[in-house]
Amino acid sequence: MLTGSCLCGGVRYELTEPLTYAGYCHCTRCQRRTGTAASANASVKAESLRVTQGAELVRSYQPEDGAAKEFCSVCGSALWSRHAQTGAVGLRLGTLDEDPGVRPTYHQFVAYAAPWEPIPDDGLPRYEERRPS
Ligand SMILES: [Zn+2]
Ligand SMILES: [Zn+2]
Repeated sequence: MLTGSCLCGGVRYELTEPLTYAGYCHCTRCQRRTGTAASANASVKAESLRVTQGAELVRSYQPEDGAAKEFCSVCGSALWSRHAQTGAVGLRLGTLDEDPGVRPTYHQFVAYAAPWEPIPDDGLPRYEERRPS
């Protein structure tokens, strides 16, 4: 079972199912909420994610559209996104304790990629907008 936490350790979680795929998101929101050029995210079924400690510390920011961004209110770590309609969860790979068993397989929203960091020449498919489902 995979486990993870925020930076301060106040929030801990576990995943009851293995991850199936992951990718890099270069959208402006991911840049803002992480302070980095891209965010590595994995898709998780909502029912697979269990907060085992510090659920009361998790805060949510809901943009005008799209998924809510949930984070630790003590240390500010971005934890996951949660889509109100679909229930889809986008887990931030950097919060995991161990090897997630999957590797990012695409780059999405590259049309908005940060000008200060080239997208790595890693052979992964690049999508101007959201990765087609
Ligand atoms: Zn924290
Ligand atoms: Zn993004």
